[in-house]
Amino acid sequence: MNENIKVVLAQPRGFCAGVERAIDIVERALEKFGAPVYVRHEIVHNKYVVETLRARGAIFVEEIDEIPTGAVTVFSAHGVARKVEDGALVRELDVIDATCPLVTKVHKEGRRYAEKGYDIVLIGHIGHPEVEGTLGQIPGTVHVISEPEDVADLNVADPNRVAFVTQTTLSVNDTKDVIAALRVRFPDIVGPDTRDICYATQNRQTAVIAMAKQVDLLLVVGAHNSSNSNRLREIGENFGIPSYLIENASMFDPAWLEGVQTVGLTAGASAPETLVQETISRLKNYRDVTVETLDGVQENVHFKLPKELADVPRPKD
Ligand code: SF4
Repeated sequence: MNENIKVVLAQPRGFCAGVERAIDIVERALEKFGAPVYVRHEIVHNKYVVETLRARGAIFVEEIDEIPTGAVTVFSAHGVARKVEDGALVRELDVIDATCPLVTKVHKEGRRYAEKGYDIVLIGHIGHPEVEGTLGQIPGTVHVISEPEDVADLNVADPNRVAFVTQTTLSVNDTKDVIAALRVRFPDIVGPDTRDICYATQNRQTAVIAMAKQVDLLLVVGAHNSSNSNRLREIGENFGIPSYLIENASMFDPAWLEGVQTVGLTAGASAPETLVQETISRLKNYRDVTVETLDGVQENVHFKLPKELADVPRPKD
C-alpha cells in the first residue's frame, strides 16, 4: 500500500493567450500553405510543442539566412529585432508574425520614448530572445539591466530624460526592486511600472504564491530556457520550498517525495497541460494521489490571428 500525497494544481497554469496564438499560427500556416513552414527560433520555449509542430512540417531555424528565398516564415512569440525583419524583406520571405501582442506593446512603448529623446533602460535578461528583439526594435540608446545593483553603473546622457520598459516575463517582486532603485537615482524617470509584465506571468506567479503556504514540494513543468517558468520555480525557492523545474514527467525524481505530503504543481506559459497530467500519472507510480485545484483567476484572454490566417480552419489534433 502506497502512502498518500495531495497534489495541488495552481490556477491558472500553462498556456497563455500569446502561446496559444503562436501555435495556432504555425498550425494554420501549415494548413494553408502546406509543409514546410519555416519558424525563426522555437515558436515558444517548449520542446514538446516544437517537436509536435516539427512532425507536422515546421522547420525551426535560428537565422533568417537559413531560410530559402520566398519561403513562408513565422516569427516566434518572443518577437524579433528590426534587422531580422529587414533580412526577411531582402530574402522576400512570406512572413507571418507570431510575436505576442503584449511584446509588441513593449516595442511600441520603447519607440515612443526613443522618439522623445529618452535614454531607455530595458529591465530584462540579456540573451533572452524577447530582450534581443526589444533591443533591436528601439532606436537610440538602450541599456539592459536586471538587478537593482546594476542601476549605479548606468551611464546616461541626461538623468532628467530616462525611461524604462521591461521584459514581459520577469518576477513582479524583483522588478519592483529594480524600478525602486531607478526612481532613487532618476527621480524623473518615466515608465509603465510593472505593467509590462504580462497578465499571464503575473497570474501564474500569484497562484504559486497562494499555494506556497500549503505545499512541501513545488514542481514547475516548463523548459529550462523559459523565463516565466524559471521565475515560478524561484518563487517556490524564496518561500524555502524545494522547487524543481521539469521539462516533462521523466525528469521527476521520486527521491524528491521523501517526507512530502503535499505537492504544488504548476506549468509555465509555454507548457501544455498534457505534460502536467503526465506528471500526475508519474506521481501515481509512487504514491496514492488525490488532486485538487487551487481557486484562482479564470483567464479569458484571446488575441486575434493575423488576417491572412483568420479564415483558415484550425486543423484537428
Ligand atoms: Fe504573451 Fe505573456 Fe504569453 Fe509571453 S507569457 S506570450 S507576453 S501572454
